[in-house]
Amino acid sequence: MANYNNIESALIHGGIYGDKLTGAVNIPIYQTSTYEQQGLGHNKGYEYSRTGNPTRAALEALIAELEHGTAGFAFASGMAAITAVLSLFKTGDRIIISSNVYGGTFRILNKVFNNFGITYSIEDTTNLQALEDKIAPDVKAIFVESPANPLLTITDLAAVSALAKRHGILSIVDNTFMTPYLQRPIELGADIVIHSATKYLGGHSDLIAGLVVANDSQLADRLAFLQNATGGVLQPFDSFLLIRGIKTLSVRMDRHVENAVKAAEHLKKHRAVKRVYYPGLPDAQGYEVNRRQAKNGGAMISFELYENYEIEKFFASLKFVALAESLGGVESLVCHPASMTHASIPYETRQKVGITDGLIRLSIGIENIDDILADLDQAIAESEE
Ligand code: PLP
Repeated sequence: MANYNNIESALIHGGIYGDKLTGAVNIPIYQTSTYEQQGLGHNKGYEYSRTGNPTRAALEALIAELEHGTAGFAFASGMAAITAVLSLFKTGDRIIISSNVYGGTFRILNKVFNNFGITYSIEDTTNLQALEDKIAPDVKAIFVESPANPLLTITDLAAVSALAKRHGILSIVDNTFMTPYLQRPIELGADIVIHSATKYLGGHSDLIAGLVVANDSQLADRLAFLQNATGGVLQPFDSFLLIRGIKTLSVRMDRHVENAVKAAEHLKKHRAVKRVYYPGLPDAQGYEVNRRQAKNGGAMISFELYENYEIEKFFASLKFVALAESLGGVESLVCHPASMTHASIPYETRQKVGITDGLIRLSIGIENIDDILADLDQAIAESEE
């Protein structure tokens, strides 16, 4: 049993802490592919590093503890994690996804799993009655993000999980945007939690990683099998880096969110800004639901400029806020979802779900907020036609 009560301590002491052999306070990087066996069928718990590795095992125990799940699994990327989870399904199964999930999630269903007869349908998961009406016998899971990417749409995770349970299907939550520090979907009833740990968990834009947490031992066994069978595992060095990143998650997130609230309020008042999407603003879609299920609104903001501002000029004029894919690092990043993260979604679908060509997504970093706002303001001024 852990001898601490709060997540800030679990981030640092959770999972398997340190090295029993030497007393090192950090888990060593077990850079090995295989392990000497004491005899046929006798080993010290490890046989081959695709199946299990002590550095990865420490990370997996840590994320399971943080998400209050049964077992954790670490993958070479968020997409490898999603691939393993989608491999739970078989030909004839259908998965409902919320209308603005990450483009890569849509792409792998549309272009890969579709070929194996595992189909998907896109639904507005914020409308629970409409969602329930769409559940047919072939639907085997509901896959949601909340806040969803990039419009920060909020789905009621407890309600969707309860609905899934009633119909005997799985609820899967991509918790990348929130992290277990801000939101724990398993506590709300979800069966599986996924992370692109590339983002806030890693926190420094220096690694690619994915994590999965299961809420029961049967699911955990199936995922352990799939992790080993599909083989997209996280390497020991990256597992170490991710454990290191997770230790500072609470202080980073507190600053990210403090900055994001100020940035959202600033943009909301800005004469050039047509619309701001941020779940921490009281008039945002799903504000009350988000307050119930998460600690706060997170640190992702999307916004649209009025038509007399030239978006390409805006991106080109930024001085240190970098135009880049990804999010959740200590540095502020900006992206254009229509041509970057969500380019794999057809134009018509993008328009239908609100991912317009004028939409800008901001990942607010932990720099000084006055510097961030000054950079945004001067780039907006430069882009006025
Ligand atoms: N899920 C979300 C919400 C993401 O934003 C991303 C990547 O941007 C992914 C999954 C995929 O993760 P990765 O890039 O680590 O493969």
